[in-house]
Amino acid sequence: MQKTVSYAEMVRFLDTVAKPGFITVTEEGRSAQGRKVLLVHLNRGGAKARFKVLYYAQQHGNEVAGKDAQLTLIRDIAAHPKQLPEDVDLYLMPMLNPDGAEAHRRFNGAGGDLNRDHLLLAQPETQALYRVARRIRPHVAVDSHEFGRDSEDYAAKGWEAWPIITMDAANHPLIPDYLKALGLQAVAAALPLQEKAGHAYRRYNVGGPPPDEEIRPSTAEVDDGRNGMGTLGALSFIIESGVRHRAANPSADLGERVDGYRILYRHLLGDRAWRDKVRALAERARREPLPSFIATNTFWANLGGKTSFVKVRELATGKTLEIPTAMAMTDLVVKGSVPTPRAYAIAPAAAARFLSVLEAQGLRFETLAAPRRVQNEAVRLLRVEAPYDELYQRYEDRQIVQRLPRAEAELPVGTLIVPLDQDLARRAIQVLEPCLLYGLYGYPGFRELAIPGAVLPVSRLF
Ligand SMILES: [Zn+2]
Repeated sequence: MQKTVSYAEMVRFLDTVAKPGFITVTEEGRSAQGRKVLLVHLNRGGAKARFKVLYYAQQHGNEVAGKDAQLTLIRDIAAHPKQLPEDVDLYLMPMLNPDGAEAHRRFNGAGGDLNRDHLLLAQPETQALYRVARRIRPHVAVDSHEFGRDSEDYAAKGWEAWPIITMDAANHPLIPDYLKALGLQAVAAALPLQEKAGHAYRRYNVGGPPPDEEIRPSTAEVDDGRNGMGTLGALSFIIESGVRHRAANPSADLGERVDGYRILYRHLLGDRAWRDKVRALAERARREPLPSFIATNTFWANLGGKTSFVKVRELATGKTLEIPTAMAMTDLVVKGSVPTPRAYAIAPAAAARFLSVLEAQGLRFETLAAPRRVQNEAVRLLRVEAPYDELYQRYEDRQIVQRLPRAEAELPVGTLIVPLDQDLARRAIQVLEPCLLYGLYGYPGFRELAIPGAVLPVSRLF
């Protein structure tokens, strides 16, 4: 494969391959520029297909390999239906950002970064993704991206990033440990498969070149998409393949990237024993009571100062080097937490702004028709720290808040109450908890609600 499949080619291909009762293609939304956001459903077991899988790709329009691999998977299953086990209910959204794909750029037609829109769901493409995810409730979900192997910081050292294909499991503190452990097990179990195919594979990480720069799994706390499905109660993964953006022909290795993807997509379908185990644990995670504390301030660390060896490829020789570093951080540290409330209350003045978010997230809420006395914990915003913090490797837009003493209060008519005794409680916390270090108030439309020194519009009820 030397050339990625375009939007028009994909639509034509899906038209020819659709077959009633086996491969169904539905339009789940329209992009800002009017292109279709398509869902492909593959099922040959009918109601027997109880293991639900959702693979989605190309949120970033210029990251193509996941889409191409999904279309390959559809082509192969269409030609050889038995490749799809009867107990698998497979859903694919190969091109979430058709406007960005057409323009070969990261952003959607409205200039939005879809992978930074999973809290607000302000874009039609992400709204469609979450409608589908809530309807299906997948047991396994995979977000699909690509990263640059030849970034400037690597090139300055005479290197490029080593892997061509990477994967990681979601790591949000609200996801039960047994689900996170099962995810990491699947990440490790893919190694021999990729080695056999000759692909350089490792656990996905972010950061700069060793030994000076931090290397860590992707963020636990900010809104990078892949944790969204984890808090819906799915075994949730990200796959990223490595692209040489500055190569004369960046598509020269597209076939290898697609093959790396194809191996992982098949690997995660697993065998019958794996599927039964994942299904049982994902469904258990959905019923799991909330923890009594919510981690609000987390970061990655290297506990004990372990030495790790990180592979890089030397450009001059093509050799693989193993660089020792103490900056490989795989331990999640909780620096701050708050007791889990019973519900959140949204002040009437901010209700209109929050309503669209609650609806797009499918959260259950109530609008007070009469005043109500409650045990209320208000949260005061001290400041929003805008810049990236080099020293502590903190992202921009950190909310620094202070919890005020719990007190009896009367909530006025028009207050929105979002209870946490609901199915999507973990999602509600991710979206609404005002004490999270990275929350809503760094986003346009919410930044205006965050006035330094003033109480935030969302309070915590006990
Ligand atoms: Zn991406």
